[in-house]
Amino acid sequence: MKLKVWGSRGSIPAPFTPLELEAKVEKYLSDFCRSPFYVSQDTKAFIEHEKISKGKTFGGNTTCVELISKNGSLIIDGGSGLRLKGNELMAGPCGKGQGEVHIYMTHFHWDHLMGIPFFVPVFIPGNQIHFYSVDPMLEEVIKLAFTKPYFPVPFSALASKIHFHQLPARESTLIQGFEVTPYKLDHPDACWGAKITCEGKSYAHVVDNEAKRVSRKDLAEDLPLYQDIDLMYFDAQYGFDDLLKKIDWGHSSSFIGMDIAFREKIKKVVFTHHDPMASDEQILKLVRNNKEYFKMQKPSTDHDFDWCFAYDGLEIEI
Ligand SMILES: [Zn+2]
Ligand SMILES: [Zn+2]
Repeated sequence: MKLKVWGSRGSIPAPFTPLELEAKVEKYLSDFCRSPFYVSQDTKAFIEHEKISKGKTFGGNTTCVELISKNGSLIIDGGSGLRLKGNELMAGPCGKGQGEVHIYMTHFHWDHLMGIPFFVPVFIPGNQIHFYSVDPMLEEVIKLAFTKPYFPVPFSALASKIHFHQLPARESTLIQGFEVTPYKLDHPDACWGAKITCEGKSYAHVVDNEAKRVSRKDLAEDLPLYQDIDLMYFDAQYGFDDLLKKIDWGHSSSFIGMDIAFREKIKKVVFTHHDPMASDEQILKLVRNNKEYFKMQKPSTDHDFDWCFAYDGLEIEI
């Protein structure tokens, strides 16, 4: 099973401003001129060497990820990143009206919903689009996204066949070979993360989550979300200082995710839902702080794990 990140930003899309882009171009041109690649004028090799698109810039689309197995695909949430996934799908069966798409919705804040009206497969006759949620408002909310004056095309005019499925909390449901068990997260409005098992691997989706409950005792019936996990996708919107200022905002920090991963022996962690106020440099500072924290904590445990910060386009084997 593989995870693909289509949108890693939280709250609202955060594209570069022209001034930020200019500063980036200036920095990389200056680095290029001082690099060994300058002599051969090999710009392509320089770009490959710098890995600019592999964790140095964190992208602007809001939250949307996809789990990919040998036999199927499950999308989680419909943030603005879903638009790009829709474009990819249109090159396959969805473009011919023969596609079947499965989307699990954690909750309905705008950053998890705003890509749905721009998901092209919903407009193609013959496609079957399945939405899943624990929240009984699922159908009402998706229909609202296609309602004037928010969007010009009414839900009744969508050409695809749309199905709504309410999932039971803390019980597993089989979707396309993925065993999906929703667990409650700590968020201002009800938000359901999920433990998803497929091909012998388990994935924990822990976004949006303030992680007010951390101890095993406090997590109680939601503790299994963190247990026997190969990869945890964890809300790390804030650095520790911001976290203390933003109590009840519904988001967490990588340090808390690290503590949980050490305790529950999680094998890989991807930190995500980046603050739209944070520049690439600020997120890279969080990465450095996280590295220090990992080094500090490691000697007191017998567990080791891989971790990284998510960026749009990241693909990782679970
Ligand atoms: Zn969110
Ligand atoms: Zn939210």
